[in-house]
Amino acid sequence: MEYILHKKSNCKRIKIRVIEGVVCVSAPFTVSKKIIDDFVQEQEAWIKNQLDKNTQSKENDLICLLGNEYRLHYINQKMCYVAGNALYLYPDKTLIQKFLKQNAKKYIDLRFEFFCEQLNIHNISLQYGFYKSKWGSCTPSKHKICFNVNLIFMPLEFVDAIILHELAHLFHFNHSKDFYNLLCTWMPNYKEIVKENKKKQLPKLY
Ligand SMILES: [Zn+2]
Repeated sequence: MEYILHKKSNCKRIKIRVIEGVVCVSAPFTVSKKIIDDFVQEQEAWIKNQLDKNTQSKENDLICLLGNEYRLHYINQKMCYVAGNALYLYPDKTLIQKFLKQNAKKYIDLRFEFFCEQLNIHNISLQYGFYKSKWGSCTPSKHKICFNVNLIFMPLEFVDAIILHELAHLFHFNHSKDFYNLLCTWMPNYKEIVKENKKKQLPKLY
């Protein structure tokens, strides 16, 4: 686990605090790195819990959806919608996921169609889901591509990069040199875009 370490002479024991999503550890000068690491390891469950609390989205947070920012408001009517620069959500996982999926699909379907036309690709069916560790997947034998609904929170150029990544798998199944060469002819700054967005944290709306 990553943390920021402050060694202090006036400190009697190791202390961990989680401040705005950052783990800060203070320790006396005499304590070794190994002992501090072990201590942090022991407290991992507590730290994760604190980090989770921190990432849960709150009233008035700014939420980015398909490249636009919205002010978040939780409401007590059973609906989710956008009006002007505001995002209104009823705090229910099923409803919020349905809202995100509908809106991600509306945009990505069109964008996907645009690239398919440019690249002369036909008859690919799309699916959408919430995935923990992938932005998309491609099954060329079934002419099927899946996209992660959470793409809705990412910059539009990143969404393009993922669409093109999955389309490139129709020609090269693995992540070979040929695969990246093709991808980079379609999107020369592909690697920079992916790198820039690698550590972006997704909002936790439910
Ligand atoms: Zn891939």
